[in-house]
Amino acid sequence: MRADMDSIDTVVIGAGVIGLATARALALAGREVVVLEAEDAIGTHTSSRNSEVIHAGIYYPQDSLKARACVEGRHRLYEYCASHGVPCRRSGKLIVATQEAQRGELESIRQRALANGVDDIVRLDRAQTLALEPALAAVASLHSPSTGIIDSHALMLAYLGDAEAQGTMLALKSPLERAQVGGEGIDLWVGGAEPMRLRARCLVNAAGLRAPSLARRIDGYPPQHAPGEYYAKGNYYALAGRAPFSRLVYPVPEPGGLGVHVTLDLAGQARFGPDVEWVERIDYRVDPRRAERFYAAIRSYWPGLPDGALLPSYAGVRPKIVPQGAPAADFVVQGPRVHGVAGLVHLFGIESPGLTASLALADEVLRALE
Ligand SMILES: Cc1cc2nc3c(=O)[nH]c(=O)nc-3n(C[C@H](O)[C@H](O)[C@H](O)COP(=O)(O)OP(=O)(O)OC[C@H]3O[C@@H](n4cnc5c(N)ncnc54)[C@H](O)[C@@H]3O)c2cc1C
Repeated sequence: MRADMDSIDTVVIGAGVIGLATARALALAGREVVVLEAEDAIGTHTSSRNSEVIHAGIYYPQDSLKARACVEGRHRLYEYCASHGVPCRRSGKLIVATQEAQRGELESIRQRALANGVDDIVRLDRAQTLALEPALAAVASLHSPSTGIIDSHALMLAYLGDAEAQGTMLALKSPLERAQVGGEGIDLWVGGAEPMRLRARCLVNAAGLRAPSLARRIDGYPPQHAPGEYYAKGNYYALAGRAPFSRLVYPVPEPGGLGVHVTLDLAGQARFGPDVEWVERIDYRVDPRRAERFYAAIRSYWPGLPDGALLPSYAGVRPKIVPQGAPAADFVVQGPRVHGVAGLVHLFGIESPGLTASLALADEVLRALE
């Protein structure tokens, strides 16, 4: 432990898309910022283990932070990509009903989208759906033209570049081990190869999957405000061969996730997933045996899926703050107005659509710190 103690205006924990977007916003607002990241590179957890979809904002409950931050974040993200050369494409998306009984669900999804300010959703009948995507089996669908795909790593590099241009420093291999709220700020114990102690006037906890347990290691933060920490893994399978679709294709949602959907990366490679597998520990390996369920789910809307075409690809883990079976939680940006500790903001439960919402959530952190 070094004898001297560096004092910094704001420390952000975690260099995922949320920590980096927040560091950028804080730096642009004139703050001195240091980002501490436990791993040896940025974005190695959830921010690089997702569908890379720019969501329109269709599914979330009206007036929820998810709905607001997704719709605002999506508009801003497309503008940001254009002005910063971040690769993205408005590919559009179809939400597909495969049985007559699902028509009602499609209509309630459309109504919810409208309530969230997503006003460009178009209803398509069977013939119109097949005219867009002939390989589909569908009785009807919704078309969302403003859904797109993005290169999430290029986005994180752009956020980091903006922050560094304003003087932000990124420290890799620097896990925050614990912290203590003091009179004039927060003392931080940082581990890794070169342990150090820092003092920050403000601390932003953007530790993703670990944010609730990290919050409980901050002495002086009332622990009753920290939510639970649960993990819902999402496995992906890549399609061997050419993509049968040119748009993203989603079934009607399932509990805990959006159903096994087809996304495309910017190179046109199709991948299927994520499913929902509640786990106790974080393990990103994909079990090849789960493929069987994927075949059945995918063939409900793409009967032409050949045997043996799915290859285990990658997995991500949703940072859940409520257990399996509980109603889905909203994003939580928790600042001093809630827990009473000046200068401390936590981001809890930033699952999908966190990537899409990143610019809006960063501003939410700024407001929480005011
Ligand atoms: C399967 C799946 C699919 C998704 N699909 C989409 C999608 O298509 N579109 C969309 O908008 N969103 C999507 N999301 C959501 C999106 O990926 C997340 O909201 C976003 O990546 C969260 O970013 P983050 O920075 O909060 O977390 P992370 O990327 O996990 O970053 C947290 C960082 O904190 C670091 N850290 C943890 N503890 C410490 C510590 N003590 N000290 C220092 N550093 C620490 C970690 O190493 C990590 O780098 C998806 C999520 C999942 C799981």
